[in-house]
Amino acid sequence: MAASREPNALDYDAIIIGAGISGLYQLYRLRELGLRARVLEAGTGVGGTWYWNRYPGARFDSESYSYGYSFSRELLDEWDWTEHFSPQPETLKYLNHVADRFDLRRDIQFKSRVKSAQWDETARTWTITLEDGGKLTSRFMITAIGLLSAPTMPKIPGVESFKGRSCHTARWPHEGVDFTGKRVAVIGTGATGVQTIQEVAKTAGQLTVFQRTPNWCAPLHNDKISREEMQKIRASYPDIFKRCLETFACFLHTPDPRATHEVTEAEREAHFEKLYADRGFGIWQGNFRDILMDRKANALISDFVARKIRRRVKDQKTAEKLIPRNHGFGTRRVPLETKYFEVYNQPNVELVDINETPIDRITEAGIKTSDRERSFDIIIYATGFDAITGAFDAIDIRGENGLRLKDKWKGGPKTYLGILVEDFPNMMMLMGPHTALGNIPRSIEYSVEWVSGLMHYARDHRLTRLEANAEGVKSWTEHVIKLGEGLLSNEIDSWMTGINRNVDGKTERIVARYSGSAPAYRERCDRVAAEGYKEMNLV
Ligand code: NAP
Repeated sequence: MAASREPNALDYDAIIIGAGISGLYQLYRLRELGLRARVLEAGTGVGGTWYWNRYPGARFDSESYSYGYSFSRELLDEWDWTEHFSPQPETLKYLNHVADRFDLRRDIQFKSRVKSAQWDETARTWTITLEDGGKLTSRFMITAIGLLSAPTMPKIPGVESFKGRSCHTARWPHEGVDFTGKRVAVIGTGATGVQTIQEVAKTAGQLTVFQRTPNWCAPLHNDKISREEMQKIRASYPDIFKRCLETFACFLHTPDPRATHEVTEAEREAHFEKLYADRGFGIWQGNFRDILMDRKANALISDFVARKIRRRVKDQKTAEKLIPRNHGFGTRRVPLETKYFEVYNQPNVELVDINETPIDRITEAGIKTSDRERSFDIIIYATGFDAITGAFDAIDIRGENGLRLKDKWKGGPKTYLGILVEDFPNMMMLMGPHTALGNIPRSIEYSVEWVSGLMHYARDHRLTRLEANAEGVKSWTEHVIKLGEGLLSNEIDSWMTGINRNVDGKTERIVARYSGSAPAYRERCDRVAAEGYKEMNLV
């Protein structure tokens, strides 16, 4: 147990873990409240997701102008996006600009990975221990650790034995990697793998893609933004953000109110064609309202996209391998692509279906599948993350009576509004389990503002202990589970259902995502605040 300390001996009023989009904005808001806040960041710079994921081709899948912060008119006025879907270097530059513009760095402690966090009931404080042994105490602890931030390497024998260069996409070297003329392997074909593959294929001598499960990908249709266009976008920011707040998942796209079977076959095809030709997530988020619930509707859009793949890939055997069989369109996160399927028409690209020829092991020279060994200079692991709860599991978080958060969440997370956890007083989560996700920065801004509202309330009412109660957690968790019923995505293995076979104990599906509408989520949280947080235990 941490030693008890008088409240005035506390190092901080609030410690925020993580200097990504959530952590930066939370720091800005807490400073406004006059709180002594400190951000602890494992990396050497700000940016979170956009700091770590420097792999080739990394970029937004949401329109840039719907993704940036909306809270500061000055920031909106001075920042120009150069592409409809900003590439990672530009986004990282943007987040560095935000940190500088609001003078955030002086309260951020870099190279400070949090190892454990312990609640001290007597002092009503959190003691946070860093990997380097440093300790800090704080009244409140706010996790801004991301939902896709704990990368996982594949459980394949021999991973350590490869003598060439190997990198996980989320731990990409800052100096970059030159693929020119190199023999490159990519393992993984999720959204990250797809972005990586289409970029690496441009320069690699030989690219071999090891695919376990193909995903339903759709065209991104990225483009440059001209100066004139940016001026128009800037003028319409109020409308853009208003729309994002009205749509189901905070994207510019929102479901078409019609059901798939309410239109004629010709109308349906025309609608699908239009969505396939349009920018961004429209085909997933702006499609007929039933495609993610109704099996027949889902089969129609899946068939449409399968036909596109067959047309775009010349070798039909390869095309068939690239068409998903075990899940329908949109039931896993749809990777958006730019000439991804055409990559497989290049003579220097090979697709290995590891269901046919499983990987036996990684060797010193390369990768051995059941039929042969291939040699490589570089192996890229685009094998994803221990999502949603993984970043929490990576920290030994202990609440009342030493209870481990990991144990509390056995069998699936239990939360209040996706922000608080019973037995873990004064801990608030930004983008934790059970919160509205969608177009993430829009959800982040709301959550940060809600948490800041609670902090404001606590300050004004001199509260030192805020906790969700059992009833509140039960009803919210049941509500989240109920919302997920009937969703085809909840019947499928993916990070969204908590599955990661590279992590022990992550083989059973859980409901970790809030799948209701963002406006409904905000309405519920607003009500809790307006009613003086009476559903919580406040002391
Ligand atoms: P992911 O979707 O979980 O994909 C991981 C890939 O690695 C899958 O193809 C998986 O195959 C494969 N894999 C894992 N372990 C393997 C093993 N042992 N052997 C062979 N293959 C293995 O992870 P991700 O692509 O990093 O994407 C995660 C999420 O990050 C996305 O869904 C998205 O939400 C976000 N993201 C966003 C952007 C953006 O905004 N632009 C870009 C990239 C990622 P199985 O499918 O068979 O498990």
